Formats: sequence, structure tokens, C-alpha cells
Amino acid sequence: NNETYLARQAEFESNVRSYPRKLPLAIAKAEGVWISDVEGNQYLDCLAGAGTLALGHNHPDVLQSIQNVITSGLPLHTLDLTTPLKDRFSEYLLSLLPGEGKEYCLQFTGPSGADAVEAALKLAKKYTGRTGVISFSGGYHGMTHGALAVTGNLSPKEAVNGMIPEVQFMPYPHQYRCPLGIGGEAGVRALTYYFENLINDVESGVRKPAAVILEAVQGEGGVNPAPAEWLQRIRKVTQEHGILLIIDEVQAGFARTGKLFAFEHAGIEPDIIVMSKAVGGGLPLAVLGIKKQFDAWEPGHHTGTFRGNQLAMATGLTTLQYLKDNQLADKVAAQGDWLKAQLAELQKRYPVIGHVRGLGLMLGIEIVKPGEAQDHMGCYPADGELSALLQKKCFENGLILERGGRHGCVLRLLPSLLISDDELGIFLDKFEMALLAAGV
Ligand code: PMP
Repeated sequence: NNETYLARQAEFESNVRSYPRKLPLAIAKAEGVWISDVEGNQYLDCLAGAGTLALGHNHPDVLQSIQNVITSGLPLHTLDLTTPLKDRFSEYLLSLLPGEGKEYCLQFTGPSGADAVEAALKLAKKYTGRTGVISFSGGYHGMTHGALAVTGNLSPKEAVNGMIPEVQFMPYPHQYRCPLGIGGEAGVRALTYYFENLINDVESGVRKPAAVILEAVQGEGGVNPAPAEWLQRIRKVTQEHGILLIIDEVQAGFARTGKLFAFEHAGIEPDIIVMSKAVGGGLPLAVLGIKKQFDAWEPGHHTGTFRGNQLAMATGLTTLQYLKDNQLADKVAAQGDWLKAQLAELQKRYPVIGHVRGLGLMLGIEIVKPGEAQDHMGCYPADGELSALLQKKCFENGLILERGGRHGCVLRLLPSLLISDDELGIFLDKFEMALLAAGV
């Protein structure tokens, strides 16, 4: 049973495990949006490999693409040598980027999102000859040295406190807790002032950075979409000052937010696009889209053994083609709007739901303490404890959800993009059952 496997894993692994503490199951099978554990319990999976499984579990086309590689005689490991499959994957991925292949080139990095973030930071530093990076509160970019440095949440940094490169953080907009501030007109003006008057001013103590890195919709930070105008202004100012704009689309990319890329909501083009998770269709793959004029790499400057995962390119290509051919972005956008409206109805009956936000199938439900004093913005305090209890009750009712945000107070939805309307209805039923079970 689940207990036996969990106990054995606890013996095998060091203390690094994190998901099994929150979701105590041993997975036996999965299909579509459903997971079954070794005891035969079924769960509606609204985590989907932290947003990786765009087409859900074991999609037949994805499985077939693996089968095709296995029977084709292609080597499984090719370093970064060229294969016809890599060629097709690259051409297709480039065709999805702004300019449809004319403006960007690709760089395959190591297999994880963090690997790609490292490469992006290195490239921006190499191209500009500058070292500084500006990042944002609530941003999450990964666990490696550089990626952790630009991550805005202090808790994952605790283990290496004070030992990672210095990064300058600026506040990221927050629709609920700061609706008129950073993302509003005043915030945009403040940002412009900051860039134009402080950078390179010896008295400010600020050095012009190599890059600005951000997620157009923050995921781990609690599902925070940036206002389009804010992104447009950052794009304009970075361009004017020769600062590279790196947009991390690891989680928000590939139709997740109702557009192929989340930056498309603002109509902007990044200098470097960081891609992982869905780009590999469920298998490990990470790649940068680099505006051609910023491709300052020289041979050997950024290499790695696992940059040519043929299976991941096959599953990635199949996934990307499926997304495009079936116009999943539009379906996802419509479902996201519908679900947000349903959750807003639920909010009227359950005041612990402080805010519902997000885009497409990247939604967040912020849990608050409605009995307590409101802050100056009229928001109730975040309730990370209740959010954890709700996650547990959801799990007990057969619903897998992740949490995020500073106090873990945001319940996050990242289901398969193929989730049906009926399955979204099941989600709502199970979520309400969890609210009732938590006694709120
Ligand atoms: N960037 C973003 C936006 C992410 O959400 C994540 C992972 N959650 C990463 C980077 C890091 O990816 P990985 O865990 O594959 O290193």
C-alpha cells in the first residue's frame, strides 16, 4: 500500500523529498487528468508535473512518438549532435516564436528549467560585459546557483544564505494586495524613473545591469499575472538602456495562460526566452530562444552532456504540434475565464477565498483569514495554514493541487490543457467538498 512505499522511500532518500510530504501517495498509473495510486484510489491531477504535462498523462500521440523513436534505430543519446528529429523539433519550435523562425535562434541547455536560466544569465552577462541582474519579488527560476540567486522567495535560499550572487530585486505587481500600486500608472512611472535616473548614477549605488529577468505570470510566487502595460514599459526601458530582457516561460509558456507564450498578452518580444517543462512534452528538455543579435556564444562556451535528448524532442515536437493544430490556447483561455467565474461564485459563499486570479489554466486561489483586520488595501491576512489544510482535504477527496505564494496561501491549478469541461466541474465539486470538510 501507499504507506509501505512511502516508508521505504523515506529510508532510501535523504531528507530532500518535498512532494511526498504534501501528497502521500505512491503512483501506480495515470491517464489524462487522472492518477491512481497503488491502492487503486483515483485523483484528479491539477498539478500535472508542475505544469509539465500539457497534454496530460500518457497521451496516446506522445506515447506513440516515443515508440517511433525506439523502433527507428535512432540512438537515445547523441550529445548535441544533429539528427533529423532534432532538426524537425528545432524548426518547429522556432516557427512558434515571434518572427516565426526569422528572429530567434535556439540554444539547447541542460535538461531542467534551472539549467536554461543559468545559460540565459551567463549569455546576458557575456553579451553586455556587465554583471548585475534585476529580478522581482515572488519570482521563481530554479535551484541552481544563479537561478536561485534571481529567485525572489527567501525560503529556498535559506540553505545557502548569503552565499549566492547578489541580485537586485524590485517589487512585482500584485492584483489583490497592491492593485493600484506597482502595476498601475504610478508604479509604471516609478519603474521608469528608477531605470532612467538611478541606473549608472554613481550616487545611487546602482550599476547598470546586464539583464532583467521575470515571469510574465509568476507561478510559484502565487500565480501573479503582470499587467500588460507594466511589461510593455519594462520592455521599452530595457531596450533603451541596452539591458537584456529575459522572460522565463518555463511554467507559463506553451498555451498554459491562453496564449502560446505568456508575454504575448502584452504584445512584447523578449531578448531571451527561457523554455522547459511543456517544451519536452513530459520528458526533460530545456532550451533558450535567443534574439539572433544577442547570440554572443562562441563554441564551447556553454556545453553539457544531456542537451540532445531524442525522446524528449519527439515528445516535445508531438506536444507542440498538438497544441498548435488543435488551437489549445483558445480553448484554455475560454476554460480559464469560465473557471474563474465559477470560483468567483464560490468566493461569495466562502469568504476564506480572498482572491481568484490567473490566466487560462494557470489559476490561483488565495486563502485568507476573513475574521481578522484588513490591511490598508482592504485585504485580509494570508492564511497559509488553512491553505495547507485545504490542500490536504482536497487530496483526501481525490484532488491534487499545489500551493504557492509567500506563505503558501495560494492554491494553484495547473491541470492538463486537455482537461474537459466536465472534469473542471468535478474539480469544482471536489474543491467545495474540501472547503466543507475543512469546516470553513
Ligand atoms: N522557472 C520557472 C518559472 C519555474 O516554474 C521553474 C520550476 N517550477 C523553474 C524555472 C525551474 O525549473 P526546474 O525545476 O526544471 O529546474
